[in-house]
Amino acid sequence: MKNSVSMDTIVSLCKRRGFIFQSSEIYGGLSGAWDYGPLGAELKRNIKDAWWKANVHDREDMVGLDASILMHPETWNASGHTQNFTDQLVDCKACKRRFRADHVGDSCPACGAKDFTEARAFNLMLKTHLGAMEDSSSVVYLRPETAQGIFVNFMNVRDTSRKRLPFGIAQIGKSFRNEITPGNFTFRTREFEQMEIEFFTHPGEAQEWHKRWIEDRFQWYVNLGMTPDRLRLRKHGEDELAHYSVGCTDIEYEFPFGWSELEGIANRTDFDLKQHAQFSGKDLKYKDSVTQEEVIPFVIEPSGGVDRATLAFLVDAYHEEQVNDSPRVVLRFHKKLAPIKVAVLPLLKKSSEIVSKAKAIKADLQKNVTCVYDDTASIGKLYRRQDEVGTVLCVTVDPESLEDQQVTVRERDSMQQVRIPMDRLKSYVCEHFGN
Ligand SMILES: [Zn+2]
Repeated sequence: MKNSVSMDTIVSLCKRRGFIFQSSEIYGGLSGAWDYGPLGAELKRNIKDAWWKANVHDREDMVGLDASILMHPETWNASGHTQNFTDQLVDCKACKRRFRADHVGDSCPACGAKDFTEARAFNLMLKTHLGAMEDSSSVVYLRPETAQGIFVNFMNVRDTSRKRLPFGIAQIGKSFRNEITPGNFTFRTREFEQMEIEFFTHPGEAQEWHKRWIEDRFQWYVNLGMTPDRLRLRKHGEDELAHYSVGCTDIEYEFPFGWSELEGIANRTDFDLKQHAQFSGKDLKYKDSVTQEEVIPFVIEPSGGVDRATLAFLVDAYHEEQVNDSPRVVLRFHKKLAPIKVAVLPLLKKSSEIVSKAKAIKADLQKNVTCVYDDTASIGKLYRRQDEVGTVLCVTVDPESLEDQQVTVRERDSMQQVRIPMDRLKSYVCEHFGN
């Protein structure tokens, strides 16, 4: 049941309605970088909030963390990134363009020539310098994953939160990878945001927890309205696994450009804590406060992309339909994710009484839900405009409202309208959104 919408349609809707813009567009744009506009910023925030709530606040065995992007360079020696986080690249000798070796066949994708340089390893970490000196001693990296911020804080979190195994640490934050070929809109970018969990377990229970996290994380997307038929699990083959990993399963979504990874859930064993213990010289063993048992925990890592989830929710929400012989584009976002919950619309903007009533309703509702007021078009156009950005409810104030103190509430998906007394509107809205 693939969504038949094209990426061009999604990209143009995102730009036209203020979800996502090309980065630095007035200067011609920066490849592989994107900016979230007013609606995109709200959508992305709602996704992160839903993730945090499900994975931190609603659980007994999780705590949060917000580590810095810049870390001690030794971190990346311990994690293996300095050595191994590379792509094999080749240069076309004719046109001088550079490609990933596994992306070229016999001939250059750009010019068709068949003469390449030898493949060379290219590290994907973005490098910068700290302080005034630009020498090798000042080199630091923009983190390529948020995970290491969790591992290096394992002892701090364990000591301050007094959690006993099994427990997890969750983090949302920016990461950076110098991708050679960013692409597919916001799917593969050089700067991206991750939602990562490192879940620490007894070694003997790691496999069971791996299974449970795969199920939990799959269900999270479904609970937020993603079409189950466009989601699947894909288990990595032996040849795809990192050398320290004993199992990884991806959650994939069927994008217009094909099945692609939203999130990976890996069993990282005790590799990371052992490495950091060795490189830092610190004791990173877990000591149980009750049993006095000492163990280096295994780690289950559900690692998802915020930008990828945002793109998938956008694609999945997109619907085109015919209503009374005219086309309607509607983003059927789950009500928790919709950037705008309620739009308040005056039927007649010439009537100052109607306008002030509508503005007062908006001011009152926005204390509880995200609201907009719009009077810049006819009511039919205003409805379509809100449908196209996924606004859940439209509240219309009309001349009759001044007489009977009722407003019309229209629901996005069914387009059904009900009359609600103004003094009950707020409780009606709050109930609708479960606030
Ligand atoms: Zn070429």
